Amino acid sequence: MAVPASSSSETPRPLVGLSVASLKALMSEWGQPAYRATQVYKWVHHHQVRDFQEMTNLSKELRTRLADHFILENLRLKTRQISSDGTRKYLWTIPSGHDIESVFIPEEKRTTICISSQVGCALGCSFCATARMGFLQNLTTGEIVEQIIRVQQDTGVKITNVVLMGMGEPFLNYPRVIDACKIMSDPEGLAIAAKKVTISTVGIVPRIRQFSEEDQPFSLAISLHAPTQALRQSIMPVADKFSLEELMDSAREYTRITRKRITFEYVLLAGVNDNLRQARELLKLLSPLKCKLNLIPYNDTGLGYDLPAQERQATFLEALSRAPFTVTLRKNRGNDIAAACGQLYAKSREDEQPRFIAQPPDARAPQIL
Ligand code: SF4
Repeated sequence: MAVPASSSSETPRPLVGLSVASLKALMSEWGQPAYRATQVYKWVHHHQVRDFQEMTNLSKELRTRLADHFILENLRLKTRQISSDGTRKYLWTIPSGHDIESVFIPEEKRTTICISSQVGCALGCSFCATARMGFLQNLTTGEIVEQIIRVQQDTGVKITNVVLMGMGEPFLNYPRVIDACKIMSDPEGLAIAAKKVTISTVGIVPRIRQFSEEDQPFSLAISLHAPTQALRQSIMPVADKFSLEELMDSAREYTRITRKRITFEYVLLAGVNDNLRQARELLKLLSPLKCKLNLIPYNDTGLGYDLPAQERQATFLEALSRAPFTVTLRKNRGNDIAAACGQLYAKSREDEQPRFIAQPPDARAPQIL
């Protein structure tokens, strides 16, 4: 079908992140058959073409019209660092002018990407570099998905695992994050197995409950970092709003409804949460749950916390050796490129400004619901 030549003067919009339903509406508006929507969606998300002219099953006129109205790249690469262990860290500038991070972690049997869901974060965890930025804005569905596409294009490697554990709290950007995960796991989209897409939250209890009730096919991780309410409150202000007890209730409910295992993340901070008593408290807290515990040695962010010595990490791990759940101690990756959450951003700001100035909590920060 003929497509009238475009004379649009509007700013081209990003195509990444548009659902088949939105593309169907567009194709109908353009007088195109509905199946064109799926074709365009696949070229963008599955084949990840960089040029509209590569969409070879579309007419030349339609390709031209798409190119007049849309762009395929919305993130501008600002910095890319490659670690000696193969970890790659990317800093992207989004159209609003803010920067976000993604980290690519190649391993023997899988390739993981850690992506951002917000610019900055409102939650103020005391050990986190992103917290220093305050909350600036939510990312769009397209900005979340494009991080993966661009890294795949850059590395030429198929991403097998995604963790939403970069900048921001994904459950404070819930609808866009869920839409992005659907595109990631769609066989006609990025075709990453849904259970290999993990949403990591610090504990936004109502959204954990919603995620369970909707029986979302994606995996859930909870950043726990403390085995008691008092310690959690002292390092994670979110615990003032949602207590450890409520959090554990919602976690139990998740495993009951979905019958899935939940992953708890526990960053080891020297002298803060890494003693034997705390290991036993953690064991008691998690034993009734169908779960997995991932211990993460702290990646120094210059915020006054230290990585526990190797022996102390080993003792903590040993104290959990009889746990009825799996416990892993994560290998630190990308240390030479500051691959912890928010670190590349902080470093780039240090380069731009004489001092990194922590921003006050933004008035537009989302409410914790
Ligand atoms: S650890 Fe996560 S939730 Fe906490 S401040 Fe950092 S980005 Fe936000």
